[in-house]
Amino acid sequence: MAGGVRLYFDHNASSPLRPAARSAMLRALDAAGNPSSIHAEGRAARAIIEQARAQVAAAVGGRAQDVVFTSGATEGLNALLRPGVIPTTGPQRLAHFLIGETEHAAVLDGHGFASEAVTPIPVDASGLYDMHTLESALEKARNGGVFASALVVLQAANNETGVLQPLEAVGRLTASAGAPLIVDAVQVIGKMPFNLAACSAAAIVISAHKFGGPKGVGAIVFNGDRLRFGRALIAGGGQEMRRRAGTENVAAIAGMGEALAEAVRDVAQVSARQIALRGQIEQGILQIAPDAMIFGRDAPRLPNTTLVAIPGLKAETLLMAFDIAGIALSSGSACSSGKVGRSHVLAAMGVAPELAEGALRISTGWTTTEADAAQFLAQFASIITPFLQRRNRRAA
Ligand code: PLP
Repeated sequence: MAGGVRLYFDHNASSPLRPAARSAMLRALDAAGNPSSIHAEGRAARAIIEQARAQVAAAVGGRAQDVVFTSGATEGLNALLRPGVIPTTGPQRLAHFLIGETEHAAVLDGHGFASEAVTPIPVDASGLYDMHTLESALEKARNGGVFASALVVLQAANNETGVLQPLEAVGRLTASAGAPLIVDAVQVIGKMPFNLAACSAAAIVISAHKFGGPKGVGAIVFNGDRLRFGRALIAGGGQEMRRRAGTENVAAIAGMGEALAEAVRDVAQVSARQIALRGQIEQGILQIAPDAMIFGRDAPRLPNTTLVAIPGLKAETLLMAFDIAGIALSSGSACSSGKVGRSHVLAAMGVAPELAEGALRISTGWTTTEADAAQFLAQFASIITPFLQRRNRRAA
């Protein structure tokens, strides 16, 4: 890559730290006090946390007292998706759990319900939730059957395909069935306008490193008082109003607040720019490889995400070729071990395994410029063309 400058197109995995967040973190690192101490040093550390809490609440349209800081979205989802979370009105126990098949591993493997309590909600070929299955499962709940007191989890946007779930329609169904809805909002916050007060979620979960904050910090934001913890997942001291024990990560929380305030300030313009960049990138890819498949293309999608596969080409090989050329992409399902695994999201969408194995995720973000997109396409052509030629020779 000219001048050794890398192109970072993997914002859905983690977005670079915003300078404003870094400055807030550096200032906060010098706060000597424990935020629970009553002396001036403790109060200064507490003030940093409360400022970030107000920033997070304002950014998502919630109340500051409903923000609970966590070590990230995985913890937030683990904490919320358990039978021990209690609705403040209605049934006192959440006996059943409705879960989309394309949820993140933090939901699929992180929830605390017994397998017989779980009803999977399938998706269609575009990755959109099957509303009929959801509706009939909720209908059983309304009729007081085994589903009485169901908890529903919905991912606002899929991290692999960027497909946006019909949050409003799902919210209407869950609200009329009296079933609390938890929204994994990790991939939408900071990428698209979002207003918690206007949505039916009982709580959302967010993660700082997806919008230019530091890694290892996130939050649960409750939507008023619809849910409470019987016992917090991380129990001990009385921090976070007894909802998450342990001395707070003051610097990370400060960075999260600042990053989110900045991310939402011009979110409408940034997302419009990203839609234009995405269009440019997808058009360019289809010119280079006309048989490329862009997953979820017919569904509403995040402005920044393209998941694409070219028949006969393997993601693992391509990722390495792009990396050597100075471009950071991701496979459809780069799992935490770093290996390219099989994507459960594409499997749920009915994509053939041979095609799914070629899925490359291109995700832009707050650092991406038009020049980056143009440079990316030029590199894409020179990397992909020899692979296409070899593939076509093999097929001839
Ligand atoms: N949910 C979604 C949709 C995600 O994309 C991620 C991160 O990849 C998570 C949850 C987990 O977030 P964290 O890295 O903060 O644990």
